[in-house]
Amino acid sequence: MIPNDKTLFDKVVNLSKRRGFVFQSAEIYGGFRSTYDYGPIGVLLLRNVKDQWWRTMVQLRHDVVGLDASILSPPAVWQASGHLANFSDPMVDCRECGARHRQDKLEDQDTCPSCGRSGTLTDARQFNLMFKTHAGPMVDSAAEVYLRPETAQGMFVNFANVLNTSRKKPPFGIAQIGKSFRNEITPGNFVFRTREFEQMEMEFFVPPDDSDGWYRYWCDARMDWYRDLGMPEDRLRLREHDSEELSHYSTGTADVEFLFPWGWDELEGIANRTDFDLNRHSESSGVKLEYYDPASGERYVPHVIEPAAGATRTAMAFLMAAYDEEEVNDDVRTVLRLDHRLAPYKVAVLPLSKKPEMIDPSNEVLGLLQPHWMCDYDQTQAIGRRYRRQDEIGTPYCVTIDFDTLDDLAVTVRDRDSMAQERVPIDGLVDHLASRLTA
Ligand code: ATP
Repeated sequence: MIPNDKTLFDKVVNLSKRRGFVFQSAEIYGGFRSTYDYGPIGVLLLRNVKDQWWRTMVQLRHDVVGLDASILSPPAVWQASGHLANFSDPMVDCRECGARHRQDKLEDQDTCPSCGRSGTLTDARQFNLMFKTHAGPMVDSAAEVYLRPETAQGMFVNFANVLNTSRKKPPFGIAQIGKSFRNEITPGNFVFRTREFEQMEMEFFVPPDDSDGWYRYWCDARMDWYRDLGMPEDRLRLREHDSEELSHYSTGTADVEFLFPWGWDELEGIANRTDFDLNRHSESSGVKLEYYDPASGERYVPHVIEPAAGATRTAMAFLMAAYDEEEVNDDVRTVLRLDHRLAPYKVAVLPLSKKPEMIDPSNEVLGLLQPHWMCDYDQTQAIGRRYRRQDEIGTPYCVTIDFDTLDDLAVTVRDRDSMAQERVPIDGLVDHLASRLTA
């Protein structure tokens, strides 16, 4: 067991770089601290997190539909949503070392965490977190547009479009996965807080009287999603906001938190946003955003329950939860005990030797498996070293082709967690793996 502290943090960051999960962006130019690039293994993990969310939130439901809205939008959207006026964090500067901090995240309000001096911090100023740019060739205020700081507004401004085209009626939801941008004052903790990140958000529109029940429903459902994908119970909790922390329009908000090496921190916020957003956009646009129920003749503005999660942050939490080291034959084996649905590769095909007579059948086995799963292929180094390389990126099964394969038309299947090996005929291999890898 690795202590859940800086040791674990450093090991996961190190593994991420070494094995191609995450790279610092623009690294050859010295790196750009607040953004990251997902490498060949990381892009698979991140995609699996997003796919699992989509599967649970959209595919397996009849009452949620998807959306992919634009990243750039005009100031009117952000004026109505309140982001232009309020989407800011309190910022303080250190007069001694010049470091800038988010005041609400300071442990000691009087001490600079960078240089440790006391009494050197300025009064707080509000700093708007939205990135502004210009659309078209004119760099003037009429051309100002914003990169979205959340995906949610795309769902609200498309409420009427979706309602009219999807034939849904409350309770129903609109879900979206995509990039968001925030000019964070203090990005950090690896990919936990970055200026460019991905979110997985859903706006669930309900009859006003049912909103409390649906709020509780989504709090439970979201916690179940993390548990089902293997997040350990003792590192996951739901924290209700008290009245001081609640936004003025919200009647209930809870954060799904994970016990990171630096303490409990947010993965997802679930909020009862009432009719605030639809009303604001109705007022600003002049377009009525409401639901008319032909059966009862009733007309109302639905209330909204919003589960809003970070994809990049959640992928990092799954990595931290899965990281393990264990002693095997006087050696330390690093193993990512990821749920197979999240594992970047499901299977690795490993010919025992590079001899040509072994490469052909290995390619055939690879060709059998690739239509079903993301597979890795590795023919260099000793087999033990190759198993370890797969263990540390979380590959659930290794399939080894050896000299006996040529006679018995069978392969060895090795299990990541137990390291147990089993001989399996090639013509039953897909079924053998499918029974273990099917969700
Ligand atoms: P925080 O308090 O950590 O700044 P928030 O409460 O402002 O987050 P929300 O606006 O609720 O976050 O966004 C929903 C989710 O999006 C968060 O729970 C988090 O997982 C993710 N997220 C928000 N900001 C960032 C960021 N800068 N980098 C990575 N993920 C983020």
